Amino acid sequence: MDYFLYKQGELYAEDVPIRDIARAVGTPFYVYSSATFRRHYQLFQEALEGMDHLICYAMKANGNLAILKLMADLGAGIDVVSGGEYAKARAAGVPGERIVFSGVGKTEAEMRQALAGGIRQFNVESEPELLVLSRVADSMGALAPISIRVNPDVDAKTHAKIATGKSENKFGIPISKASEAYAMAARLPGIKVVGIDVHIGSQLTDLGPYEMAFSKVAELTHRLRAEGHEISRLDLGGGLGIPYENSNTAPPLPLEYGEVVRKTVGDLGCEIEIEPGRLIAGNAGLMVGSVIYLKQGEGRDFLIIDAAMNDLIRPAMYEAHHDIVPVKQPEPGVDLSAVDVVGPVCESGDTFARGRNLPPLQATDLIAFRSAGAYGAVMASEYNARPLIPEVLVQGDQFAVIRARPSFEDMIKRDTIPEWL
Ligand SMILES: *Cc1c(COP(=O)(O)O)cnc(C)c1O
Repeated sequence: MDYFLYKQGELYAEDVPIRDIARAVGTPFYVYSSATFRRHYQLFQEALEGMDHLICYAMKANGNLAILKLMADLGAGIDVVSGGEYAKARAAGVPGERIVFSGVGKTEAEMRQALAGGIRQFNVESEPELLVLSRVADSMGALAPISIRVNPDVDAKTHAKIATGKSENKFGIPISKASEAYAMAARLPGIKVVGIDVHIGSQLTDLGPYEMAFSKVAELTHRLRAEGHEISRLDLGGGLGIPYENSNTAPPLPLEYGEVVRKTVGDLGCEIEIEPGRLIAGNAGLMVGSVIYLKQGEGRDFLIIDAAMNDLIRPAMYEAHHDIVPVKQPEPGVDLSAVDVVGPVCESGDTFARGRNLPPLQATDLIAFRSAGAYGAVMASEYNARPLIPEVLVQGDQFAVIRARPSFEDMIKRDTIPEWL
């Protein structure tokens, strides 16, 4: 559920007409609903109720400072995957003890930054990383709390580019080798084992893979404890899918996911951490664009809009579906016709949808891409020298630009022509 609804024939974000935002900031832009973010966080809170837990929002889904502040104020932790994300989380007021650091390629500089600034735990993904972290922490006289990310070799049954829990993926240590890795961690200076970490992929629409992975983590918890390790935290990763299509059979609800957590690892006396990104942010955002041209091709019509693949890359990168809705509510029973919705970028991949049934639209009409709050603005680029599009946050009847569109001047200033040229 979200807060983007038609009222009096117009699409609203909470109590703000999308058209008013378009008038104020120009198109294209992203708009987020703070009530939707809060609601999604609350759903996970309810799902894990009664278990000691921390919801660590995976900020790579949407890392705007205002969003981080909103999440931090709810009491969320943050899952970061780079020094830049760590710095942004701290800048938004997230205390170090609520930040977990994930990722296969942490550098020494990133480790030092997090150890100096405060960190809840590093999710370590390999033996070489463990050795470097030990050396860095020891040299600083620090003790790095760690979980080791295990790869449970389960099929998440999601898009190949976002499946991470099979043995052929680059992530984590094979669960069969976990004992050796934990024994090594226990011997190393500067390292304190606190738990186990697992994350099997993104946009999961089936609870089966979770149940398999978490059951393996439960077994591993018993085994590692028997081997003398103190396992007090289980980080179960993120990945719960969201409905991208109105017509789709809905993915499992957080409450059902919570039941799987309870059933598999609920009685181990561990603090549970989860790292949802997409489910919190995805349906809390729209991308809004306007129609530039309607072009009649041979056998197909193209709706050319002012947003492009550089603004929202998911369709080009993952063949992802986004529902597209006109901002002016169509009359009931209006004839739909199939159009290809495309952007102005010089690549055929710059196609948002093929043969999409839409009501009649004309130049300057506003359209909205639903479910664009996660992996949207964060993956945007300025390809074709198209300025990053603004992000707007709505709360009730108020809205604010939370990242402004750079001017051409701003863009030009970023490059430097060497004096010897
Ligand atoms: C991407 C990622 C997440 C978030 O995944 P979602 O599908 O957005 O919930 C959580 N943890 C790790 C380690 C990730 O890489």
